[in-house]
Amino acid sequence: MIRRFFSYYKPHKKLFLLDFSSAVVVAVLELAFPIAVSWFIDKLLPSGDWQAIVLVSLGLFTVYVLSTLLQFVVNYWGHKLGINIETDMRQELFEHVQKQSFRFFDNTKTGHIMSRITNDLFDLGELAHHGPEDVFIAVMTFIGAFWIMLTINVKLALVAVLILPLLALLVVVCNLKMNKAWSHMYTSIADVNARVEDSVSGSRVVQSFTNEDFEIARFQKNNHKYRNAKLVGYRVMSFSLSGIYMMTRLITIIVLVYGAWLSFTGQLSYGELVGFVLYVNVLFKPIDKISAIMELYPKGMAGFKRFMEIIDSEPEVKDTDDAIEVASLSGDIVFKDVSFSYDQQKSVLEDINLDIRAGETIAFVGPSGAGKTTICSLIPRFYDVSNGSITIDGFDIRNITKKSLRSQIGIVQQDVFLFTGTIRENIAYGKRDATDEEIVKAAKSAHLEKFIQSLPDGYETEIGERGLKLSGGQKQRLAIARMFLKNPPILILDEATSALDTETEMVIQEALNELAKNRTTLIIAHRLATIRNADRIIVVTEDGIAEEGGHDELIEHGGIFASLHRVQYQQ
Ligand code: ADP
Ligand code: MG
Repeated sequence: MIRRFFSYYKPHKKLFLLDFSSAVVVAVLELAFPIAVSWFIDKLLPSGDWQAIVLVSLGLFTVYVLSTLLQFVVNYWGHKLGINIETDMRQELFEHVQKQSFRFFDNTKTGHIMSRITNDLFDLGELAHHGPEDVFIAVMTFIGAFWIMLTINVKLALVAVLILPLLALLVVVCNLKMNKAWSHMYTSIADVNARVEDSVSGSRVVQSFTNEDFEIARFQKNNHKYRNAKLVGYRVMSFSLSGIYMMTRLITIIVLVYGAWLSFTGQLSYGELVGFVLYVNVLFKPIDKISAIMELYPKGMAGFKRFMEIIDSEPEVKDTDDAIEVASLSGDIVFKDVSFSYDQQKSVLEDINLDIRAGETIAFVGPSGAGKTTICSLIPRFYDVSNGSITIDGFDIRNITKKSLRSQIGIVQQDVFLFTGTIRENIAYGKRDATDEEIVKAAKSAHLEKFIQSLPDGYETEIGERGLKLSGGQKQRLAIARMFLKNPPILILDEATSALDTETEMVIQEALNELAKNRTTLIIAHRLATIRNADRIIVVTEDGIAEEGGHDELIEHGGIFASLHRVQYQQ
């Protein structure tokens, strides 16, 4: 996992080297400071040479101006490195989510995905910046400081590191605990996100059932879970930080007392004592740093693990290596012994055989839940069949690139999904390089032009989030206009007019009939009047395809379709 983490540094090698080398120079200067001080006290002071004192001070000053500049580099370029890596990861994650198949979205909460793309990567960026640099510098200064302390006075140096094992124990134990806490924190913030997403996008339902209090209570539960998880982490963190602080102060005092005794007995000069005490600080500073990394590391890695979980989940439906582009399909669709299930427990389709010829209009009818939508979502490969095969114009759809397959299938559903933006943008979603004339033509064909002309902003009218400023019929016509632009040889209308009143339905039906011309069209419909003109009607029940034939033929047959027909027309 660590190796994979480091692979994200590759594109930013230069930045990393610049930041890293500056940090090393800063650390070396810091190491040199106490030596300079003790030399100053022991050698320079007794000489009484003012000129030398001023010169040395000026030299020190210059060195520290330089060091300050380098600190800026370390800080700014270090953060730049972190944010660059974070941005790369975020982009990769988004691209990967775009590639995922329907089943992934069926099983993943939107809020969880959002939280991975936003929050989870914050700490990761910080870790990418601080991680390797700080660890290296810390180890280096620690060894450097200890080595210099040994050369000053071995006994005193050993006393100074006496407390180290205890310190290490504290840091390791706290780190394990924090690791767990931060991982809880991430899952619970993802839940908070999921709740927000759910209740905000469902706000109309919430309010119409006056369930605000219920939603608030549910949110509070998640919100508090997040708080508690974070609190546990912070408690452990504070404990560990104060522990470290206490131990470093304790050791400073011990060094002072023992050092004083050594200097009384003539084993240590004053300068050396001062230098030594300064080194105790240099020695323990890396421990502060390491413990900060210890805090950041589990946080960042918890985020990285969650990041990898998505990156590593292969999209279920993807192109084979030798998938072919098929430029223009005519629309002969054949299902051969197709079986399919969404999950292991229940099979939805079993041994379905269908033979649809190019240009035909086929209607699917049957009870809700029978599998009509499922049959249609197998054609654009939203899911792959579990058994059997589907071919279009003789090509197994698994051998055609997803892009060329899907670009030739148009789907209009009962609930239309529109994007926040203008009417023009939403129509143009069907063909992103469409000209203005094409857009107007599509709107006309969808019987939408008149409505658009009546709006003060016309095509530039903002339709609100998911098109909430439009009526059901307007949304549906917009979806149809989009389809006129896309102009696919295969068209699927999945209860496209079921949610509309009869009058609106009639207007839209006209547009749909227009749209269906010269294409292979599959219509799923509730109202049997809408499928009168279909070439063939297929009755789907939970047991599979029950009847198949022309409208009048099926009525004559006196089976399921005939009885459905009787129910609808006997009012
Ligand atoms: P129809 O369109 O005929 O009303 P569907 O094809 O939508 O029926 O559904 C067929 C069956 O598959 C139903 O039992 C439904 O619960 C189930 N189903 C539909 N979509 C999913 C899904 N995304 N995940 C799991 N089960 C599903
Ligand atoms: Mg359906």
